[in-house]
Amino acid sequence: MASYQSMSKEELVQLKEKLNAEYEAFRAKGLKLDMSRGKPSVEQLNLSMGMMDVLSSSADLKCEAGVDCRNYGVLDGIQEAKQLLGDMIEVPADNIIIYGNSSLDVMYSTVARSMTHGVMGGTPWCKLDRVKFLCPAPGYDRHFAITEYFGIEMITVPMTPAGPDMDLVEKLVSQDEAIKGIWCVPKYSNPQGITYSDETVRRFARLQPAAKDFRIYWDNAYGIHHLYDDDQDYLLEILAECEKAGNPDLVYKFCSTSKVSFPGSGVAAIAASPANLESIRKQLAIQTIGFDKLNQLRHVRFYKNLDGMVEHMKKHAAILRPKFEAVLATLDRELSPCGIATWTKPKGGYFISFNSLDGCAKAIVAKCREAGVVMTPAGATYPYGIDPHDSNIRIAPSFPTPEELALASELFVLCVKLVSIDRILA
Ligand code: PLP
Repeated sequence: MASYQSMSKEELVQLKEKLNAEYEAFRAKGLKLDMSRGKPSVEQLNLSMGMMDVLSSSADLKCEAGVDCRNYGVLDGIQEAKQLLGDMIEVPADNIIIYGNSSLDVMYSTVARSMTHGVMGGTPWCKLDRVKFLCPAPGYDRHFAITEYFGIEMITVPMTPAGPDMDLVEKLVSQDEAIKGIWCVPKYSNPQGITYSDETVRRFARLQPAAKDFRIYWDNAYGIHHLYDDDQDYLLEILAECEKAGNPDLVYKFCSTSKVSFPGSGVAAIAASPANLESIRKQLAIQTIGFDKLNQLRHVRFYKNLDGMVEHMKKHAAILRPKFEAVLATLDRELSPCGIATWTKPKGGYFISFNSLDGCAKAIVAKCREAGVVMTPAGATYPYGIDPHDSNIRIAPSFPTPEELALASELFVLCVKLVSIDRILA
C-alpha cells in the first residue's frame, strides 16, 4: 500500500468508502471495549491471590521488631516492608517512609504539605504569588491533575527519547524561583514507555534550581515492570546520584506495589534524604498514628524478598507481553505503510504512546467511542488537557482480553485511517 500523502484525491475518496463500510460493520457489532486506563487484568490480579492466605486467623501477626501489627504504632512502616520496597526501588531501607495504599496519594500529600507548610521550613507555597511546576509531556494525567487542583501553573517540557528536554529544564529551574517541582516518570514512562538515560539522570542530580525548595517528583511507578526477561531498560538510581552531586535533598522518589499486587490495595512509599524524611515524619505524626501494617506484613510474607517480587513480575510480563505485541503487530501491519502515524514500542510499563497526524487525535478517539471502544481522552497526556498538536493518544493494552484487544486494535487503526483521510482531503 502507498503512503496516504502520495495518493491522489480520487484514490483517497475510494479508499474512504471501503473503510467506511468496514467501520459500519464494526459499529453494528455493538462492541463495549476499554483501552483507556492502565489497569491490570483479572488474570494478573489472580497472581497475587495467595496473599489472602498468608495472614490467616492463626498466623503470628507480629512484625520482626515484635510489634503486634493489629494495633496502633510504627508511624513510618515496619522494617521488613521498608527493606522490601527499598530493594524494589534500589534505596536503603533507612531512606524510606512506608505510606498507605497509593503512591498518588503520597504525591498529593507531598504537594498539599508544601502548599500549607512549605518544604523543610521554607515559605508555604500558598503564601507565594506564583508557584510553577515543570510537566514533561506527554505525561501522566493524574500528576497534572494534582498540580492543576492546587492552582500551580504548569509549564510543558517536551519529552525526548532520553527523557525530558534537559537543556530547557536546566535553563528554566535556574532562572525562575517560582518553579518548585517537576513531574517525572523515569522508567517505562506513562505514556511513552521511555526510560531516562544515564546522562539525563545525572543532569537531574546536578540541577541548580533558583528555588531552594525545588524538588524532583520522581515517580518510579514502573521500576520492575519489564515486558522482557532478556531485553530490559536500566535506570540510574537518582537518590545516590543526587548525594554524589552534593544535592542530597533535591528529590522525592515515589513508588507502590499497585501493579505488583493489587491496585488500590498495595503498599506505597516515599524515599528521600534523611533531612527530607525528618521533615515529612513531623507532619505525618499529626496526620496518622500509622498506616496499614497488616497489609505491609501481608506483602512481605507473600513476596518474601526482591527475588520473590522479580519472579512474580515475570508472571505479569507473561500475561502483558502478548497483549502489547498484538497491538503493536496490528499498528505495524495496518499503519506502517500509510505514513500517517508513529508510536512507541516500550520494553515495560503499561502503555503505548501513539501520535497521529496533527489535528486528528480528538476525532480518532471520538470515532472509536462511537463504535464502542473507549480510549484515554485525547489531550489527557498534556497539562490542562491541551495537546498543542492534537496528536497524542495513550493506548493501554493491559485490561482487555487478547480477543477483545484484537478487535479494539482493528477498530482503532480503522478510525486512524478514516480520520487521517479526512484531514488530508480537507
Ligand atoms: N504513577 C504513575 C506514573 C501511574 O501510571 C500510576 C497509575 O497508573 C500511578 C502513579 C498510580 O499509582 P498508585 O496506585 O500507587 O496510586
